[in-house]
Amino acid sequence: MTTLKNTMNHKIPNGKIDAAMNMQQHLMPITPRPELYFHKGEGHYLYDQTGKAYLDLVQGWAVNTLGHSPEQIQKALLEQSQQLINPGPAFYNLPMLELAHTLCQHSVFDQAFFANSGAEANEGAIKLARKWGQKHKQGAYKIITFEKGFHGRTLATMSATGKDSFAPLFEPKVNGFKKVPFNQLGATESAVDSNTAAIMLELVQGEAGVIPADPDFVQDLQALCKKHNLLLIIDEVQTGIARTGSLFSYQHYNIQPDIMTLGKGLGGGLPISALLVKKEISCFEYGDQGGTFNGNPVMCAAANAVLSTVLLPDFIPHLNTMSFYLKNSLEELSTEFSLGDVRGKGLLVALDTGSISAAAIVEQAREYGLLLNAPNLQTLRFMPALTITELDIDTAIERLRHALANLKTQRCG
Ligand SMILES: *Cc1c(COP(=O)(O)O)cnc(C)c1O
Repeated sequence: MTTLKNTMNHKIPNGKIDAAMNMQQHLMPITPRPELYFHKGEGHYLYDQTGKAYLDLVQGWAVNTLGHSPEQIQKALLEQSQQLINPGPAFYNLPMLELAHTLCQHSVFDQAFFANSGAEANEGAIKLARKWGQKHKQGAYKIITFEKGFHGRTLATMSATGKDSFAPLFEPKVNGFKKVPFNQLGATESAVDSNTAAIMLELVQGEAGVIPADPDFVQDLQALCKKHNLLLIIDEVQTGIARTGSLFSYQHYNIQPDIMTLGKGLGGGLPISALLVKKEISCFEYGDQGGTFNGNPVMCAAANAVLSTVLLPDFIPHLNTMSFYLKNSLEELSTEFSLGDVRGKGLLVALDTGSISAAAIVEQAREYGLLLNAPNLQTLRFMPALTITELDIDTAIERLRHALANLKTQRCG
């Protein structure tokens, strides 16, 4: 297999690993991390300190649209960094303009603002909705969001998030978010009052475990927004940039949102996010919104490289073929091991693990050289690079089968 070549060159010397272990104490422990030191990525594979190769179906958390260190991004970064790294946010630069133009050309939106993370783009969307409410709706400021939805980790986006575990944290939260059950129109409409400015949602709730919005619900939401003069904000930080099999997820639902946010896959591994808006809604005045790094040409050049690849005629059809293949393979595996539901769109796919702990499967799969994610206790999430091949999927399924068989033996033995 070409992806396993030269693994000896991917080793880190032991002395360096000992030093790295000593340095851990200086890193804030914000998440449990395995004792792995990845230092080489190539396409769909990551290599640890011993040179062991892992087929990576996490890809930086649904971020590496084209896989690890793709040539297109290497080239864009090299060329742009030789030309200009950062003129500052208060000047135009060509990659920024080109990116805004491409995103607007391929969507229903007219204007873009660039930021550095999904949370920051969502924070911008929240501010924009409040500004709009102030200017056009007698100071309306409330935003309806959904239970189990995820919008980020700034204080306002945590306040907008419907994750139960966030509820007690960092009180008092930012005021003005009303959470209602997902896919329930009645509950949503009951939550609307004269101070409501917007409804904000993910069309596939990613962190919740890949839960798609019902098409009827989304149509009804759009009608509800029209009826009550509310903005419809779609958080496509996870679903955008072809992740769900169309360039943007809202295109599956045949709706025209007022505001959309992008992040994760936009930079193909580099930190850039976007807030997109229709012209008639766009109402920031000078000074309302900004950010030192926004629209810096190096990140924009990376995003342009991602988009010019994703927009090639065969790219999205290929990923949809792979989606079908992955889901079929997972369904077979689910039957074989009496697991649960397979769901998702494009290459954002989940497998319910029934009585087996998803975290235990993730750990076991890692032993067999496969990186997976468990968004909750009973769900595995698959978010490979959009360039994944049939061979990679076969390899992943084979490794996952070994992991499941091993767990089963442990449980029976
Ligand atoms: C990941 C994610 C965010 C937050 O993005 P960051 O880049 O981590 O700030 C927001 N919304 C959704 C739907 C996400 O999946």
